Parts: sequence; C-alpha cells; structure tokens
Amino acid sequence: MSPARRYGMVVDTRRCVGCSACVLACMSENDVPEGYCRDWIVHEIRGVFPNLRQEIRSERCMHCSNPPCVDVCPTGASLVGEGGVVLVEADRCTGCKACIAACPYDARYVHPSGHVDKCTFCLHRVKRGELPACVTVCPTRALTFGDLADPDAEVSQLLRTRKSKVLLPEAGTEPNVFFLE
Ligand code: SF4
Ligand code: SF4
Ligand code: SF4
Repeated sequence: MSPARRYGMVVDTRRCVGCSACVLACMSENDVPEGYCRDWIVHEIRGVFPNLRQEIRSERCMHCSNPPCVDVCPTGASLVGEGGVVLVEADRCTGCKACIAACPYDARYVHPSGHVDKCTFCLHRVKRGELPACVTVCPTRALTFGDLADPDAEVSQLLRTRKSKVLLPEAGTEPNVFFLE
C-alpha cells in the first residue's frame, strides 16, 4: 500500500433519499449497539423561498486531515491510521471524552463498554479489497469511497466534475468526506 494513499468519501446529496440503509448496514457490520450510530441522516432545507430544496445527507466521521480529536487525546488512543483514516484503539481509550468535545461534527459516542467509538471507513473491509458496508448497500449509489490521492479514482473524478462542499470548513479540520450539491 502506498503511504500517500488518502481515503475519502463523496456523498451525493442529490441521490440520497434518506432511506437509512447505510445506517442499518453500519450497525450490523460493526456491531454498533442499539441506540447508537456511526453514521446518520441529516435533512436540511436550503435556498431562499420560494426556491427551496431539501438536502439529504448521509453523515459520518469526516476522517479529517487535521483532526482535533487526535490532537487532544491524552493516551494516543485516537490516531491516524492507514490511508489517513482516523481510528480509536479501544484498549487505550479511557473514555475521558476529550475527543468528543473536540470534534465539531459530533461523530463520536461512548460505547456501553466504556471506550469511544466512531466510523472507521470500514478499514477491515477495505483491507480485504471490499467497500465500506454503507457504500455497498446504498440503493441509489449516493456514496462513493476511494483514494483521493489517486486522480483516476471515482472519488477524484466526481470532485473534479461536480460542485462539492465540506461541512464546517471554518473549523480548519480539512475533512475527507465531501458532499456533492
Ligand atoms: Fe441515502 Fe443511500 Fe444512505 Fe439511503 S443508503 S440514506 S440513499 S446514503
Ligand atoms: Fe475527529 Fe470528528 Fe474529524 Fe472524525 S470528524 S476525524 S472524530 S474531528
Ligand atoms: Fe459505518 Fe463503515 Fe460506513 Fe463508516 S464506512 S459509516 S464504519 S459502514
């Protein structure tokens, strides 16, 4: 694997219908306990009346290139792993919640067993050559995953050809999850 690989996700808000198949697939794939989630759906009204549009977004950890959650973690449990994926090592996590306070996207939760948990970009699947579970099940193909450092990857092509945004760019976190508008 190239050390320069940078995994990212592109979410097409025009394709997402808010069915939550991605949320359910993630819970099943990653044993997310009932009542918690690693990904979630946001409905937002955009535009100016009478030209209003509902934007539907499947959201998860942004796997930031400048992740404040990693900076504040006192034990090193929050770290940047393969392909820039931001991970939590459960064994090293004390559940102090500093990372939860630092994350501007509310992407983390305290697992009932005491450690903090969040989206891993399904790195266990990616290492086997598979796509993340949420990407696989989306019935409208709203989610695209791949290597942002590869100009030929579908994620890179989408970002070149479509208008996109990141959430809270002013936070300076440099997210690797992009939303097509
Ligand atoms: Fe949107 Fe696809 Fe998730 Fe359904 S599965 S909510 S269409 S991203
Ligand atoms: Fe950390 Fe939050 Fe960024 Fe994920 S979205 S890398 S948890 S700051
Ligand atoms: Fe869940 Fe994996 Fe999708 Fe992240 S990439 S939201 S862990 S299914």
